[in-house]
Order: sequence, then structure tokens, then C-alpha cells
Amino acid sequence: MKELRTLNVYFRKYRGRLLLGLLFVFLSNYFGILAPQITGYVVDQVELRMSHAGATSDAKIHAKSFYDPLVETFIRVMDVSHRSFSSLVLWCGILLLAVALLRGFFMFLMRQTLIVMSRHIEYDQKRELYDHYQRLDAAFYKANRTGDLMSRISEDVSRVRMYTGPSIMYLTNLTVLICFSLFYMFRENAMLTLYVLSPLPILAAAIYFVNNVINRRSERIQAQLSDITTHAQESYSGIRVIKSFGQESAMSGFFRRHAEDYRHSSLGLAMVEAVYFPSIGLLIGLSTLLTIFMGGIYQLNQQVSSGTIAEFVVYINMLTFPVSAIGWVASMIQRAAASQKRINEFLNTKSNVNDPVGPTRMPAFREIQFDSVSYTYPNTGIQALTDFSMTVKEGEKVAIIGKTGSGKSTIAQLLLRHFDPTSGSIRLDGSDLRDFMRSAIRDGISYVPQDTFLFSASIAQNIRFGDPEADDKKIRIAARNAAIDAEIEAFPDGYATRVGERGVNLSGGQKQRISIARALCRQSHVLIFDDCLSAVDAATEHRILSGLKEALQNRTAIIITHRIFSLLEFDRILVLDNGRIIESGTHEQLLALKGYYHTIHRKQQEH
Ligand code: ADP
Ligand code: MG
Repeated sequence: MKELRTLNVYFRKYRGRLLLGLLFVFLSNYFGILAPQITGYVVDQVELRMSHAGATSDAKIHAKSFYDPLVETFIRVMDVSHRSFSSLVLWCGILLLAVALLRGFFMFLMRQTLIVMSRHIEYDQKRELYDHYQRLDAAFYKANRTGDLMSRISEDVSRVRMYTGPSIMYLTNLTVLICFSLFYMFRENAMLTLYVLSPLPILAAAIYFVNNVINRRSERIQAQLSDITTHAQESYSGIRVIKSFGQESAMSGFFRRHAEDYRHSSLGLAMVEAVYFPSIGLLIGLSTLLTIFMGGIYQLNQQVSSGTIAEFVVYINMLTFPVSAIGWVASMIQRAAASQKRINEFLNTKSNVNDPVGPTRMPAFREIQFDSVSYTYPNTGIQALTDFSMTVKEGEKVAIIGKTGSGKSTIAQLLLRHFDPTSGSIRLDGSDLRDFMRSAIRDGISYVPQDTFLFSASIAQNIRFGDPEADDKKIRIAARNAAIDAEIEAFPDGYATRVGERGVNLSGGQKQRISIARALCRQSHVLIFDDCLSAVDAATEHRILSGLKEALQNRTAIIITHRIFSLLEFDRILVLDNGRIIESGTHEQLLALKGYYHTIHRKQQEH
């Protein structure tokens, strides 16, 4: 349960609401507890009238002697005013209604403070988690599945809310109610109290036990449901592959088996629940029965009045729901603790890539230098880069060419500080990359990743992603330089066309070019293009490269590719193989070497 201590900061933050909520719990229960006493009083009065029919009202003796001060006052007023019997009953009815209304009113306020507090905490916690996710490094995202991240921010947070809201509310409510009613019941008759309360602990324990069974089952059902959803989702997005390979019936069979399991578990749960609710009703009924039975015996011995029995029956009915909620609350708190543990695990994950502490300077991007950098991916142990060195000065254009898997993308990731080199160093304007704020580095670099990713938003929004202030003109220029403008304008909605799930179907090449436009739209010092022309045809490539020529003037550019772009003039070309530089120089120098570069150049010419 110590996991839940993390939440104390939130309770401190919302202590005003919490204290007010507790006050309302107290008040609503206070008015609640008056009802049984008034009932007891009126029953006693009825009984007195019946046995002393004809006697004067002076002969009234209270069968019950102890009442709450407020009820006491009411009784005194009734006695003094010598009202007729029917008006006494009427006034009791009115008072009962009044306390019920007050009780309800404070219960409303109690929910409005305590449940509202839990919603505030839920919101804060979601934001805290989301912000933390955003700060974590690439290694974290490699190690954790998206589904896991999602479930912690949604399901686990909701479960914790069941603790900060309902659990705390029910627990305090129950405590106050038990204190109040035990006090008055014991004053009345201690032995009878013990008798009638005896089934309640059994009820609480039974509910706790059954609740755990239900929770276990519903968790399994939840997991099965998520399996089914994932499967269905995948088969919709991959529907073209499924159809082309004629695998529809196999997929349906697979789905049917999963759905069958799900149905089986759901029926099991329905069965447990079907037994559960009537059993609670039975137990509650039994305690009422016990109260009447034991009360009857005590009354025969002249120890209690009928009013007291009536009062006790109302107490028992008031207590059974909160007491049965103990079991429910206990299992809720257990689940909340487990969820908070999972949340804490993530919140305590530290990023391996961190900002420097203390004042930092802004990079000017005059010189980027890799100094014998090696990098090994920790999860696979693959050494992606070995002893890699290069220097790129302001305004230079450098190409990095190599087969897939030669380590090209790793260079871009390192420069963006998604992770740090295993050995060697990367320097910016002569200082280690680690001495700058990550945001300052990333602000200065526009990156076109190898796998394009577009958000489910309009094309314009996607292009202006890196520069929210960019106006339409800027977006258009970026699109033109990425050679995608004509195609965008041909869509009925132009730049407002939505992409993604319910938007247009863009080709791989179109997505790549929108991704290029997004990078061009930002006024950054450095541009990195990671293999971003792989899905376009030769003619389009030609158009993009001439557009880029204009866009890249006076800007530093690192272009990663597995083809040779002879249209662009590079200050330096590095040929990478298996994480090492095998050739470097200008286009002419490399051709003269008659090595790997010369070979691919010749192959490309043949096409
Ligand atoms: P390229 O961009 O030239 O195709 P990469 O830099 O992507 O090459 O990859 C270089 C090597 O590192 C490859 O062997 C690849 O399998 C490995 N690698 C790339 N990314 C990861 C990763 N996130 N985790 C583990 N290994 C990786
Ligand atoms: Mg790559």
C-alpha cells in the first residue's frame, strides 16, 4: 500500500476540498442517524396510545430515554404543545422528510467535493504522466510497448481514481456512520447490538472474497477484449494484404476463436454476478430478520420497546450497504495500489539522455563534428557505428551513402541526441553536444525521418507542425520546394485535406514529400534528410532535387541516401559500410577511386 503514498502530494494540493468533503460526510451522516430515532419515537408513541387508550397525555412515559439533542428538543416541543396524536404523527413525518432532505443535500455536497477532487487528481496525474512520457528517450520507447504506455495513462489512472474518490468517500462515510450508530445502539442495548451486528463482518468478508474473484475474471476478460480489438484493428489496416493473399477465412476463423474465448469468460462472469447480488440481498434480509427476532425476545423480557426494534431495523438497513461496501472498497484499494505501482515505475524511469544543469549557451551551428564516434544498440548489442568521424561546416552539403543497415540513420539519431555515443564525441561549435539543451539542438535542426509519419490532421497542419506560426504562403513555398504543391492543390479540399485514418489515401511518395515540406517549413540552420526519396520515381526525384537546391541555399544539409543524387553538388560524400567510412571525397574524387561509389554510379547510369 506504500505505493499510494505518492498520491499524498495531491491530497495536500486539494486539502481544502478534502476537509470540506469530510465535513459534509459528517453532516450527512448526522442527519441520517436522526431518522431511526424519530421512527423509534413515533412507534413508541403509537404503542403507548394503544395500551393507554383513553388516558391523558400526562401519563406518557418514554419507553426510550436517550435521544440525540436535536430529537430531544423536538420531543420537548411536542410534549409542551400537547398536540393531538394525529398531528404528532404528521409532525414526525415532516421531520423525517426534513432530515432526509438535509441528509441528501449534504450527500450531494460530499460527492461534489470528494468525487470532484478525485477528477482533479486524475487530470493532474494524466498530465504528469504524459509530460513525463514526452521527456523520456528513445530507449524507453524501444523497451515499452505502446499498449503498455496507453494502459498506464488511461486504465491505471482510472483505477487510482477509484481510490482517491469513491474509496475514500465510502470509507470515511462508513466510519462516521458506524461511530454514530454504534454510539446510539450501545446506549440502547449493548447485547442486542452485538447480536444484530454479528452477520455484518461475514457479509463484508464474503463480498471482499467474491469481489476479488470478479476482478480477476474481469481482468482476464479485459485482456481478451484487448486481444480481439488489436486483432480486428490490424486486420482492417492490413485488409489489402489479407485479400490479396486470400486469407479472409483464416482471419475470420482466428477472430471467431478469440471471440469464443471471450464469450466463454463473459458468461462465467455473468454467472458469478448473478449469484453475487441476490446473495447480498439474502444476507441483508437475514440481518433484518435477526434484529426482529432477537429484538422480539428482548421485548418479551421487557428489556426494549417496539420503538427500539424499529430503530434498530432502520440502523441495520442503513449500515448494510456501507458495510458490504468495505469488501468492495478493500479490493478497489488493492487494485489502485497495484496500478499506482505501475505508474510509479514509469514516473521513476529516468531518461538516459538529459539536459545539462546550469546555464547553457545557444548553439550557432557553425560546425558539427563527429570525433571517432562508435555506437552499439544496448538492446541488441549491434554495433551500428565504428570510429566514425566527419566535420560539417556551416552551409556545407554532405551526403552519406551506404547500403541498408550500414549505420546511416544512427548518425542522424545521434546528432539529434535521441541517444548518446557509446564512445567518441559529437561536438557542436567546439563544445560537446551534451553541453547544450536538447531543445536548442533540435530547434536548430530540421529532420526528415526515414519512416514518414503524418498526424491525423490537415495537410497544412502537418506541414506547419514544426513552426506553428507559419502562414499559408510559407506552407505553399515549402510544398513547392518539396514538389508536392500541384498534387495538394488537385485535392478538392486543397491544403485543408485531412490525412490519416479517415482522410485521403496518400501514396508513400506523397507522404514522403509532405514530410520534406514539414522540414523545409522551419527556419532551421541544419537539415537532415534520411533516405526520404526512396518512394518517389526518377522524374519526381529530379523535381524535388531542383526544389531543394533553392531551399538549401546557405543552409547546412546532411543528406542520407542509398542512391547517388548527381543533380546536387556535395562538398563531401561519405560512403558507409557496416558502420565504417570506406570512401570519402567529392563526386569526382570518388569516381576516380573506382571503388564502391563508382560501382553504384555505373549501375545507376545503366537504368
Ligand atoms: P541504415 O540507416 O544505414 O539502414 P541504421 O542506422 O538504421 O542503418 O542501422 C544500423 C544497424 O543498427 C543495423 O544493423 C540495425 O539493425 C541496427 N539498429 C538500428 N536501429 C536499431 C535499434 N533501435 N535497436 C537495435 N538495433 C538497431
Ligand atoms: Mg536508415
